[in-house]
Order: sequence, then C-alpha cells, then structure tokens
Amino acid sequence: MMNENCIFCKIAQGSLPAQIAWSDDHFLAFHDIHPKAPLHVLVIPKMHISQLSDLTAQDSTWLGEYMLAINKAAKRLNLNHYKVQFNNGIESGQEIFHLHAHLLQYLA
Ligand code: 5GP
Ligand code: ZN
Repeated sequence: MMNENCIFCKIAQGSLPAQIAWSDDHFLAFHDIHPKAPLHVLVIPKMHISQLSDLTAQDSTWLGEYMLAINKAAKRLNLNHYKVQFNNGIESGQEIFHLHAHLLQYLA
C-alpha cells in the first residue's frame, strides 16, 4: 500500500529520485539527503507504515526480513561497524512518517 502524500513512498516507487544503495522487492536502502554521519543510509519497507509504534503482531511475518534487509544493505556498503536508529514520533525527531531505519557509520 502506498500513501500518495509520502515522499518515501515516492522514492520507493521511483517517482522521486534518490541515491539508491540496495533494494529488493520489499525493501529499499538509499542515502540520506542531509547525512548526519560520514555514511548515512535509510532502509525502508516499500509498503507504507507510518512509524514503529503502528506495528502489530501481524507485521511480525515480515519484520525479520526487514532486519535482514538492513544487514544486506550494510554488506552492500561494506559496513561492519555501524549504528541503526529508529525515531518514533515527532518528539523523538521523526520528520518523515514512513518507517525507516537510519544506518549510520561514523568512521569514514
Ligand atoms: P527522521 O527524522 O524522520 O527519523 O529522518 C528522516 C530523514 O530523512 C532525515 O535524516 C532527512 O535528512 C531524510 N530526508 C528527508 N527528505 C528526504 C528526501 O527527499 N530524500 C532523502 N534521500 N532523504 C530525505
Ligand atoms: Zn510512505
């Protein structure tokens, strides 16, 4: 499902450009437009989910695949040491309400 007002849905669809790092049928990794670390990639499910706290037991079927997608994106980028961060809610700093993992490497 796609949210037509969501910029990450547009990136997932290919209608908004991004620097793609890795993708498969269900997940996409692309470089953050305003990197907060020497390497800063966002890993998203292609289907629209606003935020982590919207996940339910039904999502447990694909969440393991999401973890593996983060791992695959990191491997594609030759990263071994990195941080993974999810912001949840405006007061956490979440600006884009399409679930995304920040994949951050501070040592360039
Ligand atoms: P949040 O603060 O929601 O956890 O993180 C959203 C991230 O998306 C921010 O780091 C921001 O720089 C990035 N971002 C926002 N708009 C775009 C965009 O149009 N393209 C890309 N590649 N990154 C974006
Ligand atoms: Zn979306």
